Amino acid sequence: MKNTKISQILIGSNNSGKVREIRDLLPKTVKIYTTKHFKLSSPRETGKTFLQNSLIKARYFSRKTGKICIADDSGLEIDILNKAPGIFSARWSGKKNNFNLAIKKVFRKLDQADKNWKKKNISARFICAITIYGPKFKIKQSLGKIEGTISSSKKGKNGFGYDPIFIPKGKKITFGQMTNSKKFKIDHRSKAFKKIKKFF
Ligand code: IMP
Repeated sequence: MKNTKISQILIGSNNSGKVREIRDLLPKTVKIYTTKHFKLSSPRETGKTFLQNSLIKARYFSRKTGKICIADDSGLEIDILNKAPGIFSARWSGKKNNFNLAIKKVFRKLDQADKNWKKKNISARFICAITIYGPKFKIKQSLGKIEGTISSSKKGKNGFGYDPIFIPKGKKITFGQMTNSKKFKIDHRSKAFKKIKKFF
């Protein structure tokens, strides 16, 4: 098992937004490949946890290409909804990745769980799991979290996904109202990435 620094890596995602974010987190000296170079579709996410799904993606793309691969899996957990949408966060947005629908679904489920939820602090967190997998390479995994609450209405046009309804702990605005650079300083993805940065 080699444990030398990684000098080239495949970003295991067909989501262009995610590829951009991971590319920005990697040192500029690392040569980057994307799934587009290899015309690969994505594997089915059959895991039960964020860590398992990030491993499924990293292992699949690595085995298809022979490259060391980095992949992540992330999502939003809402405590009062028994941690839903969780690993189904992307799937709540449907085939067309419509996050208006996904956010409506969150509000509908919250209404069902507690009619007065808008007057309460609804605790939630974003989680990001990262796996690096490669031939003759010891698997590396890390987890990053950011705690917060759910806003009673959508606020802000920045970011993506559930950003307009997530207020990070200690702040008064949603991720959707924050600039990308402010969000990246505190978010789950950068926290997970900091833990594996030393391998590059
Ligand atoms: P996956 O990791 O590609 O399975 O999808 C993660 C899903 O979680 C995204 O499609 C979003 O719905 C949600 N998500 C993850 N991170 C964020 C974030 O930083 N902001 C908003 N939504 C996020």
